[in-house]
Amino acid sequence: MTAPAQPVDLFDLVIFGGTGDLAVRKLLPALFHRYVDGQIQDGSRIIGVAREALDEDGYRNQIRSALSGAVISQPAKLDAFLKRVHYCSLDARKDEGWDDFASLLAKQPGHVRVFYLSTSPELFVDICQRLGHCGLNQDKSRVVLEKPIGKDLASANRINDDVGRVFDESQTFRIDHYLGKETVQNLLALRFGNALFEPLWNAGHIDHVQITVAETLGVERRGPYYDTAGALRDMVQNHMLQLLCMVAMEPPASLSPDSVRDEKLKVLHALKPIDGGNASQFTVRGQYRAGAAQGHSVPGYIEDLNADSKVKVEKSNTETFVALKAEIGNWRWSGVPFYLRTGKRLADRVSEIVVAFKPVPHSIFTAAAGPLAQNRLVLRLQPDEGVKLWLTIKHPGPGGLRLRHVPLDMSFAEAFGVQQPDAYERLLLDVVRGNPTLFMRRDEVEAAWRWADPILAAWMASGEAPRPYTAGTWGPSAAVALIERDGRTWDEDDE
Ligand code: NAP
Repeated sequence: MTAPAQPVDLFDLVIFGGTGDLAVRKLLPALFHRYVDGQIQDGSRIIGVAREALDEDGYRNQIRSALSGAVISQPAKLDAFLKRVHYCSLDARKDEGWDDFASLLAKQPGHVRVFYLSTSPELFVDICQRLGHCGLNQDKSRVVLEKPIGKDLASANRINDDVGRVFDESQTFRIDHYLGKETVQNLLALRFGNALFEPLWNAGHIDHVQITVAETLGVERRGPYYDTAGALRDMVQNHMLQLLCMVAMEPPASLSPDSVRDEKLKVLHALKPIDGGNASQFTVRGQYRAGAAQGHSVPGYIEDLNADSKVKVEKSNTETFVALKAEIGNWRWSGVPFYLRTGKRLADRVSEIVVAFKPVPHSIFTAAAGPLAQNRLVLRLQPDEGVKLWLTIKHPGPGGLRLRHVPLDMSFAEAFGVQQPDAYERLLLDVVRGNPTLFMRRDEVEAAWRWADPILAAWMASGEAPRPYTAGTWGPSAAVALIERDGRTWDEDDE
């Protein structure tokens, strides 16, 4: 059973880039599910905006086919939902069309207004300036910025400054969809809703933390963008640092947005620098070569890149894999490594956080009982969101005392009998509610870039190419060496 859904206030949600991949594949299905659950009231409107010359029926037909999978069980709801969907054709960089767009919004002056910028970041400033000129920013207006926010601190500052000339920080929602995942929010519930963990949640009892975000896919259609970014900018600077913050932050005084975000910011400030002096020791970058994924042969990164680009390249220095060892210089975490790794075309699609506890100080068991394994708390973000706590128990039955390591296993889908909602479902309605707790504040984005920039600079200065790894593996062998040097291993299987 899930908690009953509460309807949100009437809103107009404008999706700039309403015909794009993110809008069609994620945002509109998320809104449809919330509509089916009764959280979106009739009267609210969803307005797609893009340059393509479509009329409203044309756009609704696109959405209808995009939702065909989602509506199998609720066909009657689809027509009602599509009545809430509108379309406006305009070019964010040109003046034409904005008057019609403003008139459309003016029909519902009392609605909460959400401007979701699901376009390339180069358009963020144009769109915000035009929204400002048209007087569309009202008290109940909010703007949502998709990642990436810049490619370094300087460019992030430029975007934030320009957006900030139109929208206050309190109206600006920088989305990181990882924060909308149930497991991530469950970290808050586990850490601060149970007396069990907090006394152990420190360097005295935790040996290390691992955060893995592994994908089996290659760069797919995003090649041209990805080649300008790489795994550190695309995954580590935002999603993975946010996860690290949720694990490492001090208990906030309350769940108020600024209490939580203040604590995350302190963690970012306490991250020890990785720069030219230690990047080769603490980081490994890789790039996939041809290999196999799920039983099929797949091309390497360069072939993937060239498949989708008019300009063909022979080589690229962009990393599709990063492993690194981060350290937090504060009382709670001194000496506890946080190993992060992420990559494309890896052996499995899995995102998880592993908190590995220290071994017992003294074993009373004989060698015949078998080895004592570390307790681990595993928070799985995908697939099968859930939590496992690995414990040592006695193997049942006579025949001597033999130890077994088994998980207390809670798959959310099994425990609650429902499929977990997509992260965007939660986050989109949080924007309408005006609750920014799960969104990044400007100073967090800046602090994350301040930590990431010297790593990027060190890689650039070294001139070294990313290490090759075969598609379908767990990345370059140097990533294994990174953790094994410390006498630890990546957590790759459940047993
Ligand atoms: P996309 O598929 O390329 O879509 C871009 C959208 O922007 C299209 O609707 C396009 O339609 C519209 N557009 C382009 N130029 C425009 C202009 N001058 N004026 C008005 N509309 C314009 O991109 P996407 O994959 O959806 O990604 C959108 C944003 O989300 C990007 O910042 C991306 O980094 C971020 N993001 C995407 C994903 C994902 O899974 N796709 C995940 C995380 C973050 P027209 O060409 O018809 O104008």
